[in-house]
Amino acid sequence: MELLNLSPYNTHGAFVEEIHTISQTEIEPIHMICPISMSCTNIMCRPFHLALATCDRDIPKVKLIKHSSILARSYVLTGECKQCHTLYSADQKSYQETESKRKEIFLNSARYLKIGTHLWVDCIFSNAVINGVYSFYASPNAYTQYWNNSFGLLDSFHTTKLNRKHIWQIFIQESICTIAETQYFTMPHRFLQEFSHSSRIRWNGTGICRNPQE
Ligand SMILES: [Zn+2]
Repeated sequence: MELLNLSPYNTHGAFVEEIHTISQTEIEPIHMICPISMSCTNIMCRPFHLALATCDRDIPKVKLIKHSSILARSYVLTGECKQCHTLYSADQKSYQETESKRKEIFLNSARYLKIGTHLWVDCIFSNAVINGVYSFYASPNAYTQYWNNSFGLLDSFHTTKLNRKHIWQIFIQESICTIAETQYFTMPHRFLQEFSHSSRIRWNGTGICRNPQE
């Protein structure tokens, strides 16, 4: 304590002041959420390198939940293939379907998922949501309350409160990506959005999600 100058007492043994809580905020690393590949994955371009698609000043600053930690200073980088103009981010790929139309697909192997305008989570967090829901039969509301009380509201430096929609979005996105990966298909972005916003989906008690109209 004295060697590190962390003692609340001076050399004469007199009390000076209480030791303040040490914050690692200023020395924590800055996380960059990047595309998985550094080169274009289209057969015609391979291995054409990706260039940064946005100006430095336009790079979005987001909050990242990595495991159980909340990292407030993270940045999302988008790559672009200058040859075919396909855009790559950490969780999706956007390519030119026709001259005036683009198509976005989710990457089944995404290691980070976007769940809000400025909020991302890593695959360990999303996997924990899946396991929590299946193992404890937890509803999105219950898991939201568990995470907020256990982690989100306890971090005095980066307080984060998730809501039910965040957990539902993670559950749907991670579930479909897992299934899609085993069946070797990719999921269009628009379909996933419609699916996660549908209010007609219900659980039938066996862990299988069914549409009641079917
Ligand atoms: Zn390309």
